[in-house]
Amino acid sequence: MGAVPAFTIEPSQSPVPEAERLARIAAPGFGKVFTDHMVTIRYAEGKGWYDAKVTARQPLTLDPATAVLHYAQEIFEGLKAYRLEDGSMALFRPDANAQRFNASARRMAMAELPEELFIESCRLLADIDRAWFPDVEGGSIYLRPFMIASEVFLGVKPSSEYIYMVIASSAGGYFKSGAPAVSLWVSQDYSRAAPGGTGAAKCGGNYASSLVAQAEAIKQGHDQVVFLDAAENRWIEELGGMNIFFVFEDGSLQTPPLSGTILPGITRNSLLTLAREAGLTVREEPYAIDQWEADAKSGRLVEAFACGTAAVVTPIGRVSSPSGSFTVGAGGPGQATQRLKDRLVGIQRGVLPDPHDWVMRLD
Ligand SMILES: *Cc1c(COP(=O)(O)O)cnc(C)c1O
Repeated sequence: MGAVPAFTIEPSQSPVPEAERLARIAAPGFGKVFTDHMVTIRYAEGKGWYDAKVTARQPLTLDPATAVLHYAQEIFEGLKAYRLEDGSMALFRPDANAQRFNASARRMAMAELPEELFIESCRLLADIDRAWFPDVEGGSIYLRPFMIASEVFLGVKPSSEYIYMVIASSAGGYFKSGAPAVSLWVSQDYSRAAPGGTGAAKCGGNYASSLVAQAEAIKQGHDQVVFLDAAENRWIEELGGMNIFFVFEDGSLQTPPLSGTILPGITRNSLLTLAREAGLTVREEPYAIDQWEADAKSGRLVEAFACGTAAVVTPIGRVSSPSGSFTVGAGGPGQATQRLKDRLVGIQRGVLPDPHDWVMRLD
């Protein structure tokens, strides 16, 4: 609706001083070192999107009756700006994030954002805050676009107003200690998503409902929770925020299908494409937890890994549930996992050819 607004750029009058910035990005970790700027665009029914701007990063002031605070009409995205081998900066498949953002918006009955506004907002923020790029192994600027229902009204209905924002942070590795493989806890008591629910939408509510299971995993001494399907409590779906792949002795790959209850990861999609191009057999088919255990024990299954933008490709070493635990392959990083990761990271860093035009250069 309406014309696409142009961005106003108001650079921060008080950016973090250089020495302080360099200290903060020396070992940034994940999700805690934020840059100087942010993007906001507003939406009102009948008016469309307006007031697009890049400003100094600052707190939001919200009326306590703002809809998102009560009914959780909220969606988000996550993508990274990478530094290419030649020193220039690039985004990876931002068009795919823009499309998924709108798919999430439709599921949550929110306004859709023109794809070009999404992409431009990410480009502008990564560009103005490029000094925050951390010079560490696997470093990036992690962009977090999100949208909240901003109408001040306690009636239960889709909001008539929205605020879209993008914030950015310096990111190093996702997992502390750069562990060679993560361990999983199989959630028996909690489901992440049900048929007809919001499992395929990237909304904060999915995370809110997964936290108790994730906390249980940590309490049991594991890194991440893996969710099974809600109906039979048997079919592997995904982790709290990452998709999952299995690698078999014959070299084939398997990942759960996009049945509406798992998040359609862009990393998942990219790896499927790269694996097929490499001539591997790839199945998008359900896989049962009892089968996983049997295959791991018999040696038919040799590797498993989790994947997502934040953690890239992370080997899975051990899987536990109240009924026991088993080790995947040698319990550490496997060769097939490493080869796929190298191909993906090679494209993201501009080291390998990019036949699908996944890399969008900022300069
Ligand atoms: C974001 C997300 C993923 C991974 O998606 P990518 O596009 O690969 O980053 C997987 N599962 C869930 C639940 C997610 O929110």
